[in-house]
Amino acid sequence: MTWSYPADPSITSLPALARSRMQDGGKVFIRNGDGRSFSFDETWALAGRLAGALRAHGVGKGDRVAVQVDKSPEAVILFLACARAGAIFLPLNTAYTLNEVDYFVGDAEPRAIVAAPAKASDLAELGARHKVAATLSLGTTGDGTLMEAAAAQDEDFADAPTDWDDLVAILYTSGTTGRSKGAMLTHGNLASNALALIETWRFTERDVLIHALPVYHTHGLFTATDTLLLSGGTMLFRAKFDADEVMRLMPEATTMMGVPTFYTRLLQHPGLTREATAHMRVFISGSAPLLAETHREFEARTGHRIIERYGMTETNMNTSNPYDGDRIAGTVGLPLPGVALRIADPDTGKVLQQGEIGMIELKGPNVFRGYWRMPEKTASEFRADGYFITGDLGRIEPNGYVSIVGRGKDLVITGGFNVYPKEVETEIDAISGVVESAVIGLPHADFGEGVTAVVVARPGTVDEAAVLAALDGRLAKFKLPKRVLFVDDLPRNAMGKVQKNLLRERFNALYR
Ligand code: AMP
Repeated sequence: MTWSYPADPSITSLPALARSRMQDGGKVFIRNGDGRSFSFDETWALAGRLAGALRAHGVGKGDRVAVQVDKSPEAVILFLACARAGAIFLPLNTAYTLNEVDYFVGDAEPRAIVAAPAKASDLAELGARHKVAATLSLGTTGDGTLMEAAAAQDEDFADAPTDWDDLVAILYTSGTTGRSKGAMLTHGNLASNALALIETWRFTERDVLIHALPVYHTHGLFTATDTLLLSGGTMLFRAKFDADEVMRLMPEATTMMGVPTFYTRLLQHPGLTREATAHMRVFISGSAPLLAETHREFEARTGHRIIERYGMTETNMNTSNPYDGDRIAGTVGLPLPGVALRIADPDTGKVLQQGEIGMIELKGPNVFRGYWRMPEKTASEFRADGYFITGDLGRIEPNGYVSIVGRGKDLVITGGFNVYPKEVETEIDAISGVVESAVIGLPHADFGEGVTAVVVARPGTVDEAAVLAALDGRLAKFKLPKRVLFVDDLPRNAMGKVQKNLLRERFNALYR
C-alpha cells in the first residue's frame, strides 16, 4: 500500500481523521495509573475545551505552544487541542533546565507556554522576558490554570481550517553536538505513519497498549498515541516504566511499545513467563538497538518474538520487522508501506549495491518538513531528489531486511580505515561474562582515532587481556580495540540510547 489521503475532502487534519474513525465514543481511550480514565468522546470534548482556552489566550493558526509538563492524559489531549486549534505543539523534555528552555523559547517564539505547576512561576518569568503572551500550568491530576480556563469553555469547538501539509508539531532533537534542532512535523506526517503502523502491526479497537513511555518524545507521543487513537484501542498510562507494574498490567493488555531497556528489565523480573504474557498479542521495541541476545532470551522466556522497528524524530517510523513473516533479531526489518529506503555513499550520495554499508536515506509521507528556522541545515540534510539523509549507517541484507550499524558520527576512522562500532560490539558482547559494550574512537597520535571498547562485565569474569584474546582472529587487526576499559554501567538517556559522546568526553585523553 502507498499512503493516500482519505477520499473525503473534508478530512484534512489528524484530529479530523481521528474523529471520523471513532466508532464507539464511549470506549476508554486512556486509562491512567491513578484510576482516571477518558473515553474517546471525553477526549474529544476535553480537547475542544482546551482548544477553546488556547484560542481565548490568543493562540491561532501556526502559533507555537511550548509544553513542559509531566506525563498525564491531559498532556496528550493538549496535543490534540493544539492540532484542532491549528497550532503547533512543542513538547519539551521535563529534564530540561530553565537555561535550556530559554533557548527553545527564544528559538521557537511560542505564543503560549504550558508548564508543570512547580515550574510555572519560573517559566512565566522566562516567558515574559521572551514576550510570550500567556503562561499556563497543567498538573498531573487535571489541575492547573489551563484546566481552569478549559472548564469555562464550551466543548463544541470549531476546528481551525487545516491542510495535511500544515505543521502540527515541532520536536527538538536531542542533538549531541551543536544546537538542538526543531524538527517540523505535519498533520500528514503523523497520520500517514499511524495508518502505516496500524496496518503493519495489525492494531484494532480490541487492542490495549501498555504505555510507560514519556510523552515529550516521538515514541510515546506519536508512535504509540496516534496509532491507538486511529485504531480505537485503549492505552494504559503509567508515569514511568516499573517492571512490577508492567507485569501486573499484562493480563489485561494486548501490546506494549518500549525501548530496549524495558525488555532487559523485564528479563530480570522473575514473573516473566509464558503464562504471564499469554494475553499479550505483540511486544514492540525501538528508539535504540535491541541486542539480539535480548530478543532471543525474551523468546525463550515468553514465546514472544519482539518486533523491532526503526524510526527517528524527523521521520517518524521507517522500518519494522513483519507481523507475520520472520522477525529477525538484530535487524530493523523492512520499510513501512509508503516509505522508500536506500543506502548511499555518505560522501558522494551515490546509491550503493545491496549488501554494502552506507548512509540510510529515506523518502515518504512520514518525512518531516525540515528544521525550524534552519534552511541551510535543512537543505544540507536532503538530497536533490528529496531523500532525507538520516545520519544512520546501515545495510540491506539479501532478504531485504535493514540492519543498522551505527550513527555516522560514531564511525571510527583509524589509520584511514573505517570501523563500524556495531561490528566490534557484537563480537565483544558474545564473549562470556560481557553484559554489553560500546565501541568509540578516541584521538590517537598515530592512528587519528584509536578503537576503544568500553565494557560492562559480570564481576570477576573477564579483564582487558581476556577480551583482546577472545577477539584475536575474529576481526581484522585494524578493528581490534587498542584498549578495553571497564565501567559499571553505560551512560544512557531517557530513551535508552547509549550516550557515546559522554564516553568520548570521559576518556578523551586516553592516548595522549
Ligand atoms: P530519536 O530522534 O530520539 O528517536 O532518535 C532516532 C535515532 O535512534 C535513529 O536515528 C537511530 O540512530 C536510533 N534508533 C531508533 N530505533 C533504532 C533501532 N531499532 N535500532 C538502532 N537504532 C535505532
